[in-house]
Amino acid sequence: MRVVVIGAGLGGLTLAHGLRRAGIDVAVYERDGARGRPQGVSLHIDDRGTAALRACLPPAHAAMAEATMGGPRDRTLTLSDELTVVDTRPSDGVAGRARPGRQAHRPLLRAVLLTDLDDVVRFGTEFTRFEQRSDGTVRVWFADGGTDTADVLVGADGIGSAVRRRYLPDVRVVDTGRRMIMGATPVRTVVDTGLPGLIGDSPAAAQVRGTTMALAVLRFTQQPVLARQEWLPALRSHVVADAEDYVMWALPSTRERLGSPVMAWHQAQDLAADLHPTLRLIVAEAWPDVTAALRIGMIPPMPAWPASPVTVIGDAIHLAPGFGGNLAMRDAQSLCQELVAANRGRLDLLDAIGAYEDTMRRNSFPSVTAKAGR
Ligand SMILES: Cc1cc2nc3c(=O)[nH]c(=O)nc-3n(C[C@H](O)[C@H](O)[C@H](O)COP(=O)(O)OP(=O)(O)OC[C@H]3O[C@@H](n4cnc5c(N)ncnc54)[C@H](O)[C@@H]3O)c2cc1C
Repeated sequence: MRVVVIGAGLGGLTLAHGLRRAGIDVAVYERDGARGRPQGVSLHIDDRGTAALRACLPPAHAAMAEATMGGPRDRTLTLSDELTVVDTRPSDGVAGRARPGRQAHRPLLRAVLLTDLDDVVRFGTEFTRFEQRSDGTVRVWFADGGTDTADVLVGADGIGSAVRRRYLPDVRVVDTGRRMIMGATPVRTVVDTGLPGLIGDSPAAAQVRGTTMALAVLRFTQQPVLARQEWLPALRSHVVADAEDYVMWALPSTRERLGSPVMAWHQAQDLAADLHPTLRLIVAEAWPDVTAALRIGMIPPMPAWPASPVTVIGDAIHLAPGFGGNLAMRDAQSLCQELVAANRGRLDLLDAIGAYEDTMRRNSFPSVTAKAGR
């Protein structure tokens, strides 16, 4: 079996590892160059993401990822405008609350996922279209004129997915108009304020003059340089040596207010202008090059479709700004499991893809339970 994956994000790379470990021929095509784009600094990884990493990655990769995450996060704090803790809620996944988990440094997780996939990932290659052929295979075209042919095409190409637009043109992405400016500030520059000590490993929401600023401290449980020596010496990325503990912060904005996304760091200074001096300092000391403005979109539930050799995972088909990475990795784990069963002759290929899609729709759009006829 040969699988072509479009997109080297969290979902596509998790899937590529899982397929390769099962002996399936896989190629990943990524539009961006190897350094990628700023996509936010950290991710809350819950049980779904951790389970997928353990299931799909080689054990050393999964160990490296987990060794460098922050401490356990099992509660969320609310801070007053004087920055004292006024409320503590459990992170238990109940009633819309986040599930417990740990914080991961996004660029480091990406570097771990890319390790040992040099012969699988082709950067700077933008997917443009595909054609399902009468022999059951799928032909894929790229912007540079290149092509590839596979038994399965997986769109793991994120919110603007070109695979989804061609395959499921009725699925809509709604821009909510909301934007989130996310940044990171070295702990050493703000440690004297006492805030990093106050919130510990817990996510916190500071509600100040109509703005809710999200804050969290990522203290690497094991320093990345030491973790690399112990778990994954093959990991080559400047991210490892550069990594230091930081305060992650996020400020809400809107499409109208934001202007140009390249001005995200300056925008953040404006948004923080009226906040508590400690919060202003956190924003002022942030690394400008990792400050990013992220669009908050949503995809309404869609009716089921008949399975074919083309499918989609992650943000390409469902959006969840606070936990979409976990869903993308869980999709990868679930699709991998079904494709491995098909490759071993235990399932028909289309039944395998259909089973993945039923699970994905059930988990991501619980109100839609209808199955597609195949
Ligand atoms: C403000 C904010 C905060 C978030 N916080 C969290 C969090 O704490 N925890 C969490 O789990 N999730 C979080 N998310 C969601 C998370 O970032 C996404 O759900 C996750 O990145 C989706 O992974 P993916 O693999 O589906 O897509 P992506 O990671 O977006 O990867 C898609 C890849 O496809 C590539 N691509 C696109 N088009 C093409 C093409 N035509 N050809 C080739 N390649 C292409 C892109 O360059 C990209 O590399 C957050 C999101 C936002 C907006």
